Amino acid sequence: MTKQVQLFIDGAFIDSTTEQWIPVTNPATQEVIAQAPCATADEMSRAIESAKEAFKSWKEVPVSERARLMMRFGHLLKEHQTEIAEIICQELGKTIEDAKGDVWRGIEVVEQAANIPSLMMGETVENVARSIDTYSYIQPLGVCAGITPFNFPAMIPLWMFPMAIACGNTFVLKPSEQDPMTVNRIAELFVEAGAPKGVLQVVHGAKEQVDTILHHPDIKAISFVGSVNVGQYIYKTGTDNLKRVQAFAGAKNHMVIMPDANKQQVINALVGASVGAAGQRCMAISVAVFVGAAQDWIPEVAAAIGKVRPGVYTDPNAAYGPQISPQAKARILSLIEQGKKEGATCLLDGSDCSVDGFPNGNWVGPTVFSNVSTEMEIYKQEIFGPVLTTMSVDSLDEALKVVNDSPYGNGTSIFTASGAAARKYQHQVEVGQVGINIPIPVPLPFFSFTGWKGSFYGDQHAYGKQAVRFYTETKTITARWFDDDIQVSGPNMSINLR
Ligand code: NAD
Repeated sequence: MTKQVQLFIDGAFIDSTTEQWIPVTNPATQEVIAQAPCATADEMSRAIESAKEAFKSWKEVPVSERARLMMRFGHLLKEHQTEIAEIICQELGKTIEDAKGDVWRGIEVVEQAANIPSLMMGETVENVARSIDTYSYIQPLGVCAGITPFNFPAMIPLWMFPMAIACGNTFVLKPSEQDPMTVNRIAELFVEAGAPKGVLQVVHGAKEQVDTILHHPDIKAISFVGSVNVGQYIYKTGTDNLKRVQAFAGAKNHMVIMPDANKQQVINALVGASVGAAGQRCMAISVAVFVGAAQDWIPEVAAAIGKVRPGVYTDPNAAYGPQISPQAKARILSLIEQGKKEGATCLLDGSDCSVDGFPNGNWVGPTVFSNVSTEMEIYKQEIFGPVLTTMSVDSLDEALKVVNDSPYGNGTSIFTASGAAARKYQHQVEVGQVGINIPIPVPLPFFSFTGWKGSFYGDQHAYGKQAVRFYTETKTITARWFDDDIQVSGPNMSINLR
């Protein structure tokens, strides 16, 4: 019988009693490798109730002990990095190096969470009035929840629960139903690190389970990462229910190439940033905007991208893996067809792609379009596949207008040798994460992941530094101190300013 993915509720890995199961497939073969349960209403309630109960004692655990849990957890994740990466390879199809990077990016967040005592320091001001001091404490919120996408099954859950739990909250995590096994292994390691019962719960499922989270009165804050439509729904529904919500959504990231840029660096950067990870990255470069004479490089860019081949994770020469599902592949192929019909020039067409020995994989070959305009669907939609669209403009101002008119604002980059052009771009571009001669400018977690516009809904870009603000409240205390022995007030203490 196919393996059934377990739920992690009240400190135990348990078999779900549900009758609804979602097949988890190896996207390189279509083999069903597991079945993910859609947690029942009762299982959802038990998970949230257990997290609520655990919060009562977890919030009292000293901050340094919470930090030590994260240190142990970080060590275990490092020890098991390759093993976790292999689970990612099986259920998502990433190459092994890419999957290891997925885990590593999560480990960096756990290291940040281990730094929680200094991140949770409050503020004080003495003598706000005579004998009165004001000071603030940072306190946890209660039960927080996370809803995560398929494309980073280790990193994105690790963006959320370690910071929330280090702050003193408890956490209910609903990972993607398309690759749910990675999180279960991570949860086992969290237990091994010493996490007390109930602090983390892992529930599996899809919309129905998310809706329970959105409406449950005991969930105080929700972190979401996923597509735009779902992100908007989660933000609207969660805030309608008066919860704190942050929703990281989809993207369409532009790279601007100035004619003074180093051509070889541009080509190398574009190959990895556009089709790497099968284009299934919210920070992938999907639009290259060539300024002036730089447009002459487009054929060379297409030729370099054309040398890249997808393959299975056991093939060391594979540059990237399959798309997550046949549906995702079909959607990408239909957008490629639409691009051709709308008049873009298809310089490289990856629609008909095969990998020896794996005829059933969801393969899409690298694809490059030129002469793309902003009205075309291949420009407007997030393709989330190995497809680079290119366009040509006459000036940096024109390039800035294209990028700033885009409804998305996750990441962007400029390649140039000019400090003036780089400064103008970083200052004027309406995008939250900007690379200068760097194609994918993802910040480390001592900064924050700062998507703008339609790529983020909420007010704290929690992940990394700002996560502490998202997952906590500030309590401000103003105290008058009476002490007859210490006469700190009274007429004699007046300061004569003259
Ligand atoms: P998705 O929106 O389909 O799913 C994300 C989560 O939402 C999953 O857990 C899923 O079960 C749940 N979900 C799906 N449909 C739902 C519905 N109708 N109601 C309630 N919940 C629902 O996203 P995906 O396909 O798994 O991931 C890819 C998307 O994630 C891309 O758009 C990508 O840009 C985005 N993403 C964004 C970031 C970022 O930081 N901005 C990072 C990674 C991925």
